[in-house]
Amino acid sequence: MVSNEFLLIEKIKNILGKVSKSEVIIGIGDDASVLDIGLEKDFLLFCSDSIVDGKHFVFNIPEKSLIGRKAIGVVLSDIAAMGGYPLYVTLDIGIPGYVNEGDIEEIIDGMNFLLELFSVDVVGGDVVSSDVLYLSLSCIGKVEKKNLVKRSGAKKLDKIWVSGPLGGSIYGRHLMVSPRIPEARFLVQNFSPTAMIDVSDGLVADLYHILEDSCCIGQIDVEAIPVHKDAKSIDEALYMGEDFELLFCLSEEDSKRLESNMSNLPYKFYKIGEVTDSGSVGLYVKDGSSRYPILPKGFRHF
Ligand code: ADP
Ligand code: MG
Repeated sequence: MVSNEFLLIEKIKNILGKVSKSEVIIGIGDDASVLDIGLEKDFLLFCSDSIVDGKHFVFNIPEKSLIGRKAIGVVLSDIAAMGGYPLYVTLDIGIPGYVNEGDIEEIIDGMNFLLELFSVDVVGGDVVSSDVLYLSLSCIGKVEKKNLVKRSGAKKLDKIWVSGPLGGSIYGRHLMVSPRIPEARFLVQNFSPTAMIDVSDGLVADLYHILEDSCCIGQIDVEAIPVHKDAKSIDEALYMGEDFELLFCLSEEDSKRLESNMSNLPYKFYKIGEVTDSGSVGLYVKDGSSRYPILPKGFRHF
């Protein structure tokens, strides 16, 4: 049995991750791969995500269209995390015996809302029979070269921000994914985020990805974390995941500017902490007058 998704990805990266083309700006390891295919101003973004019955949704829900919405939402969310916008998807469906044509139609129909909202075209895919229902999406997007945001650029004294309340999503909200593309585009067009990721594994786990890739130490303030009304505890905001909010870092100067403009914005962003040091990796939680280290124990996919 494979018990740790991140170690497995490390292994895959070691065995298969050596790239032969200089066009690969980012391969395995960020929210999407980044390819320089010769466009003057833009990089291509390319990523994939799958959702599986029993793991990421349960088939036995009345509103099956939400399964389709989630499948599209999670893959678009990774494009947003790079600062980009989506263009095309391909759709692979694994269909088991317990699913009928009407169900599939409803699921596919549920994809239309986000596809139309963000003008994304379905340009291919595959249908296979399978023991369990799954939907696997690949997505191509673009980002202006100057607007690309990686996980790896956080710097000492940056502030840590999140784009919405966290926690409790698995009680239902996780199906209604709203990829934060407008928010990401607003940020890259008006500020210079130094690092960004979407919160899929949980705030602590995903912040660790930024801190590891940026080789930094972070601190989050429990009292500043926006806890969603669906959450039953602060722990759910820290660890539950599937929030699909943007988690990003901004310089002190950008942070001040964002704070002073916040009341005029169509979006709300929450400052939850700061990067306190660089050169090594760690995360601390400030809770009132106490401060303690915290380790990642986010959502594991196996
Ligand atoms: P996210 O939660 O943002 O979708 P993941 O944790 O699934 O990201 O993946 C992290 C990184 O590892 C991504 O860059 C992804 O492309 C890469 N990755 C995940 N699974 C595989 C795989 N089976 N083969 C190659 N790369 C993978
Ligand atoms: Mg992601």
